[in-house]
Amino acid sequence: TEQGPDSPTASRPPVSFELFPPRTDSAALALGRTIDRLAEVRPAFISVTFGAGGSTRDRSLTVLRYLLEHTEVEPMAHLTCVGSTHAEANRLVREFLDAGITSFLALRGDPPADVDPADPDAGLGELRSAAELVQLIHRVQEEREPFGTTTVSGVPGAARIGARPRPERVAVAAFPTGHPRSRNLGQDIDALLAKEIAGANLAITQLFWHADHYLDFVERARAAGVTIPILPGIMPVTTPARLARLTELTGVIPPAELEIGLEVEPDPDAQTELGIAYAARLVGDVLAGGAPGVHLYTFNRHEAVLEVLERVGATDERTASER
Ligand code: FAD
Repeated sequence: TEQGPDSPTASRPPVSFELFPPRTDSAALALGRTIDRLAEVRPAFISVTFGAGGSTRDRSLTVLRYLLEHTEVEPMAHLTCVGSTHAEANRLVREFLDAGITSFLALRGDPPADVDPADPDAGLGELRSAAELVQLIHRVQEEREPFGTTTVSGVPGAARIGARPRPERVAVAAFPTGHPRSRNLGQDIDALLAKEIAGANLAITQLFWHADHYLDFVERARAAGVTIPILPGIMPVTTPARLARLTELTGVIPPAELEIGLEVEPDPDAQTELGIAYAARLVGDVLAGGAPGVHLYTFNRHEAVLEVLERVGATDERTASER
């Protein structure tokens, strides 16, 4: 079994969730309730997405602050560097650290869609890859806290100085079926290794639909020298429209079984059941194959992801019975 992102404190595998910042006030209210329900299963962290180019910066920070102030859950901020100068990226990281956020998912982000096809790298900015953002996050953190979380230099057991209140993660993305722009899977594994060398201590995968895609990717990554935990990212998809949209966004081809199943099933409840059953099977299979935990894409709803966890026995016993 792989080493997890957290020390094994409970018999169940570590779980984590992804949210996106709400666009309206009513969605924000609903998200507060979703977060409270997700927090009940004591996730290792909850991550909040970030619009490439900074379009959601303030809204992402609001959700992260809510997590910090109203829950015990570690907030993880997605950050993208596409289109940024070094100075802008530096300011962004500082701003999040100032807000009390110490865990990040460092991403390059997608360049704007209207970029000149003859020069696809034109909109990338000064940081060319997520690995450079990982380095920058570490550098900014060190500049702010030159003594880090260690003991007084050279004095074993001396009082901790500058201790951060929460664990610090610098996570990065991994692509079990390949990034849409990469030439082959070898390139994706090289990119992941480069991100680990830059200082990443956790990888979270893009969604995938077959356990073997994840397990084979992990095996290849290990053979190439990647040692950080690779958390499988899984999403219960419960409507045909959402599946179509996800396929468009990620380029990951869904299995015909799920795609056709959702298309031909007229009853929304039965569609939901299909999506949950598929995701629960996938979660069970990757955990059986040694995954260090599971990261669930929530689409800002708690019902489906909690049901998936319940089915694989990955919710906290006490909170599950209280629900
Ligand atoms: P990188 O790791 O820098 O890689 C980009 C491309 O360059 C890949 O094709 C890679 O193979 C190649 N590459 C990079 N370095 C090397 C190297 N050393 N050698 C060879 N090839 C290399 N986007 C958002 O805008 N906001 C979000 O909140 C967000 N959250 C995400 C969460 C997860 C879990 C995942 C999987 C993706 C997320 N994305 C998000 C999408 C992501 O920004 C895009 O996939 C983007 O195109 C690539 O970002 P990256 O961090 O993987 O880039």
